[in-house]
Amino acid sequence: MQDTKVSASALQEFDLIFFGGTGDLAMRKLLPALYNRFRDSQHTQGWRIIGVARQDLSREQYLNLVSENCRQFIPGGDFDERAWTAFTAHLEYLRLDGTQPEGYAELARRLQNSNDRVRVFYLSTAASLFAQICTNLAANQLVTPQTRVVLEKPLGRDRASSYEINEAVAKIFEERQIYRIDHYLGKETVQNLIALRFGNAIFEPLWRRSNVQDVQITLSETVGVEGRGDYYDRYGALRDMVQNHLLQLLCILAMEPPSSIDPDAVRDEKLKVLRALRPITLDCIKAKTVRGQYRAGAIDGAAVRGYLEEADIPPDSHTETFVAIKAELDNWRWSGVPFYLRTGKRMQERMAEIVVNFRPVPHAILPTSASEGNRLVIRLQPDEEVRLYLMVKVPGAEMKVRPVDLNLDFKQEFKTRQWDAYERLLMDVILGKLTLFMRRDELDAAWRWIDPIRDGWDALGEPPKSYAAGTWGPTASNTLITRDGNTWREDGYQ
Ligand code: NAD
Repeated sequence: MQDTKVSASALQEFDLIFFGGTGDLAMRKLLPALYNRFRDSQHTQGWRIIGVARQDLSREQYLNLVSENCRQFIPGGDFDERAWTAFTAHLEYLRLDGTQPEGYAELARRLQNSNDRVRVFYLSTAASLFAQICTNLAANQLVTPQTRVVLEKPLGRDRASSYEINEAVAKIFEERQIYRIDHYLGKETVQNLIALRFGNAIFEPLWRRSNVQDVQITLSETVGVEGRGDYYDRYGALRDMVQNHLLQLLCILAMEPPSSIDPDAVRDEKLKVLRALRPITLDCIKAKTVRGQYRAGAIDGAAVRGYLEEADIPPDSHTETFVAIKAELDNWRWSGVPFYLRTGKRMQERMAEIVVNFRPVPHAILPTSASEGNRLVIRLQPDEEVRLYLMVKVPGAEMKVRPVDLNLDFKQEFKTRQWDAYERLLMDVILGKLTLFMRRDELDAAWRWIDPIRDGWDALGEPPKSYAAGTWGPTASNTLITRDGNTWREDGYQ
């Protein structure tokens, strides 16, 4: 049975200060995650959480706001009135404009007797504020050796702006103190991908070009821009999803076995993957990328409007809400294996999954086995599961085979509530574990691959391809993959 408790000896006393303490992320994810860890932990005496935002709120008003919001995001069975009351006793509020030096004296006063405790500044605000917040923290002597800073995405819009943000933060914090968060890496199934690869010798000889035909990574959403049109239109799917989440998943899947699970051993290997990505230049951009934008359509039978009709979206916007890319790695292990990356809004289904398609048998003696190979599906959402498809005989007189999955059912096996990604990542920050956070050079390498795609699209000057909401994206996305003789998973067996 999995141990859901954080080891009491490991978890030190801490002060966790959220900039953006009244924001959507804090209410929907961060505070519910902390509550869940609090409720499951045995030793919680040393917890102190301070929400920081610009609103003029008393502590009581803040607690009411948090209670009202968080109740919606903590599933009924996990909400315990007594635990919640105990949790909120550790919660404070501070009104502070992070960009102005004035309010920091009060923050310093509150933290004055806790310089020896773990201190975490979680910057859940726009990245444009990070530099000023860090400077103000340092000017008020708030950065102790035990201090960590967590940076939310997106860290820039391109390589140059990302460099600027990182440079400003690096003036105040050492790299070992900086936790660049990508919540996909905190998902249980991503950890399981690591366990599957490096805990099972049977996969080791299979995990390479000679056995793998293609890899598909899909992060699809059914939602549209959800009131964040202004932000989304400046970023688009390439920056919002591919640069971080998709490339991070690709790294975990494709990296060489690290010599240990230590942060730098793992991050060195991820960096090599990013550096091995073949550049997508203007001459191949049409063959290797597809960008799309949703028009009106229907999701689960309900009509939804198109991207250009959403609030805060300019009527002539060319921002992509869908991207499909054929990525290739120029290295010994993966040469010639296409990695198809795909993400979009207003798609037919909400899911995040990695599909590894193995090559079919070299010589078919059984009907239907010739064209279909084995398949490993690692699903991150909506449910977290791992399925390995094998060919088995269909009962009956004929020798017919079809794929059937071996399903690793974590819920059944471990009978425990799965941690949300933010629960794991927040605990890792407090425990000082950097493995699941991006290092600066990784981020830089990711942008170095992404920027030319963006530039190529600009140079082409073509509008994104239209797709109806509620579909799997533009038809060109199918062409991208069928041209190589492959198909997206939803078009094959399930
Ligand atoms: P939000 O707009 O809902 O909240 C922003 C918060 O920052 C508010 O509490 C606001 O009071 C505070 N704030 C703004 N300016 C401030 C200042 N000068 N000083 C102090 N506080 C200030 O935004 P959000 O959705 O919570 O997102 C926060 C960050 O997390 C953003 O960088 C966003 O890109 C990132 N993020 C959000 C999500 C999400 O699901 N909401 C997901 C991934 C990343």
